[in-house]
Amino acid sequence: MLIPWKGQPFPPEGQRRATAEALVRILVIDDEPSLARSITALLQADDRLIEECGTVAEALARLNAAAYDLIVLDYRLPDASGLAVMDWLLSHDRRESVIMISAEQSVEAAVGALRRGAADFLVKPYSAEQLRRSVAKTLAKRQTERSRRQTRQRLESSEQMHRYLVENSLDLIYTLDADGRFSYLNQRIESLLGHPRSALLGKHFSEIVYPEDLERARFSFNERRTGPRATSNLALRLTRNPFGNVESDEHGPVSIVLNAMGIYNRTDSRAAIHYAGTYGAARSLPGYRLHEQGHGDHSFHDPLTHLPNRDLFCDRLNLSIAQAKRRKTHIAVMFIDMDRFKLVNDTYGQGEGDTLLRAVATRLRQCLRKGDSLTRHGSDEFLVLLPDVGTKADATAIADKILQAFRNPFPVVDGEFTATISLGAALHPEDGDSADDLIQHASVAMHQVKGSGGNAFSFFSPDMHATYRARISLEKELHQALGRKELELHYQPLISLSRGAITGMEALVRWRHPVHGVVAPSRFIQMAEEAGIIHEITRWVLDTACAQFSSWRRRYPNLRLSTNLSARDFDHSDLDDIVSRVLARYGLPADSLEVEITERLLLEQDDKVSRRMQSLRELGIGIAIDDFGTGYSSLAYLRRCGVTRLKIDRSFVRNIKSTEDHPIVSAIAGIARGFDIRLAAEGVERDDQMNALETLGCDEMQGFLFSRPISAEDATRILQNFRLPGAVPPPSPALAP
Ligand code: C2E
Ligand code: MG
Ligand code: MG
Repeated sequence: MLIPWKGQPFPPEGQRRATAEALVRILVIDDEPSLARSITALLQADDRLIEECGTVAEALARLNAAAYDLIVLDYRLPDASGLAVMDWLLSHDRRESVIMISAEQSVEAAVGALRRGAADFLVKPYSAEQLRRSVAKTLAKRQTERSRRQTRQRLESSEQMHRYLVENSLDLIYTLDADGRFSYLNQRIESLLGHPRSALLGKHFSEIVYPEDLERARFSFNERRTGPRATSNLALRLTRNPFGNVESDEHGPVSIVLNAMGIYNRTDSRAAIHYAGTYGAARSLPGYRLHEQGHGDHSFHDPLTHLPNRDLFCDRLNLSIAQAKRRKTHIAVMFIDMDRFKLVNDTYGQGEGDTLLRAVATRLRQCLRKGDSLTRHGSDEFLVLLPDVGTKADATAIADKILQAFRNPFPVVDGEFTATISLGAALHPEDGDSADDLIQHASVAMHQVKGSGGNAFSFFSPDMHATYRARISLEKELHQALGRKELELHYQPLISLSRGAITGMEALVRWRHPVHGVVAPSRFIQMAEEAGIIHEITRWVLDTACAQFSSWRRRYPNLRLSTNLSARDFDHSDLDDIVSRVLARYGLPADSLEVEITERLLLEQDDKVSRRMQSLRELGIGIAIDDFGTGYSSLAYLRRCGVTRLKIDRSFVRNIKSTEDHPIVSAIAGIARGFDIRLAAEGVERDDQMNALETLGCDEMQGFLFSRPISAEDATRILQNFRLPGAVPPPSPALAP
């Protein structure tokens, strides 16, 4: 069947095939006619049909009339931005691949285009070769995707309809294997009999047949015959799950009429057919009442989110525990706490906080299955009950799904907020036998996650109790660590490929604990923030690092120092004072120091932060955004706060493979170039990453490939003897210029 497409009639069948398969249609949108012509000339080939136009309006007119394979799109067009074309494509569900070309100053285009699904983007000026390569890659990828999609679609469309009809049928529909065990059940089993269907899969059908009817059910529920002799309209009774959530208030067995027949398979055309199982459909006899819709009794529901309240949740949990004991199955309880929720309330007000909580509840709900329960436990805490998890892996899969669901930001008044959560889980029977134990242990696991930085998931384990207690005592000891001189600094070099030299040193704090040995900052910085002592630590780090650095600078006058600041350091109005006094104490010029802040701080977007960043800038201090690319900070903000360096986050570097495209890294490089901001990459561990980064225009980098963070003495040595990996030893030590 041909469906007219967005109001446009389809071109005649023959013509459509010619354009879709034989010819590759390309639309070049650029308002500079000479540029458009040169792109066309560059891409011209026998099997390509290239058209040009110069405005968004013209482009939309053409797109309305025809489909293209590829659009080469300039960002800056006279009537609107190129993003408008991409928005149009998205809203019209179009399949055109887009290569965006963005001018030097319009780097927001790069990120905007990538987020809208652009295949690639090129920053002007680009080479002819770059464009040719990008087009060839995009078209090749498109071809593979198209054939994959076609195969998948053919399979899916017939299957999908059948699955839908079966799943939503008011009849109970099942299949049995040759041994009479359920191999499929539709969801009707849950509302009709109250059994979670996963609990019945693999079980013998006799488990749901009312004992007195077992004799009648034998040879009919597992019918082998087909055609007129198969079971038809046989009345039977099935047993209800006494703990289940069924639609009827009646007790006792459920009466049904059954139709069933045998399923036969033939492995190949010559082989004999063999009995593979039974297909059956059972309709319950009339007389049942439908479940009441809506949110039900308010006293059992949280008025903000309409989720069942804690009492209702605990009831369900207790019931599930009882069931799980009988059936020897597992249940999981998850404790979910939002990270940084207070920030939303503080920044946007409580109304906005409430809206966010509702949105979070909805998103969580979407990750769960029908029989699962969700409740709000405290202000920003949620509990999840998975009454029937097969294995630990199933619970892990759901936790992953929940964490994934939080990847997309939530809308807030003036933009977006990326909420993250900490998720802890406890399993029955392993981790507890009562509702209270399970909830408490899930909460301990959640705190463990929170303690390691949040935005992750962990199961409870008995040693966490100890860990939890240990954390409390660690927190106490941290208060004394400074006085006891247990903190120390390591340094990691920043190197420049083009200069073949070390251009900077980053100070990274360590805590040498008398019993536990070296504690990494990931384990105590957040603790220090929560305990309110981070500011003291920052002051110590600044002072110690500057003292060390001043001795290095005498030999390497172009070397720079970077230190990390915590978001909480920006709560103090004297931040710029402290920094300038330390610089003065060691006679260091302001531009030799760079402070690193995490991108998340930029997301906090409050005036206080930007004011304090500006006063640091006014002193002449560099500001680097650490872990850049993970937080989607606003680019306008980068400019406003006077950011001087972006450090590409390790996670992007880790994914670099020499043979692939790296749109994100290349977007970040484009941003840096466009805003005239220095660029560095973190976490470079392999040669191929180093080479790919160099190709993408990133000259400065840091990582284990060059050096791990090391003590001040080792750093002094590496300054003297540094050599790039693979470089021939220089006749004299390479010094930072
Ligand atoms: P960061 O500022 O992004 O520091 C880089 C982290 O990546 C360091 O971890 C470093 O050891 C690690 N790293 C460097 N190269 C590689 C590599 O090639 N591969 C891998 N896998 N890792 C690499 P570290 O020292 O554990 O520090 C973790 C974080 O703690 C830092 O991330 C920073 O955010 C924070 N931090 C460290 N020192 C301080 C400090 O003095 N004050 C504050 N507020 N935060 C600090
Ligand atoms: Mg850093
Ligand atoms: Mg970093």
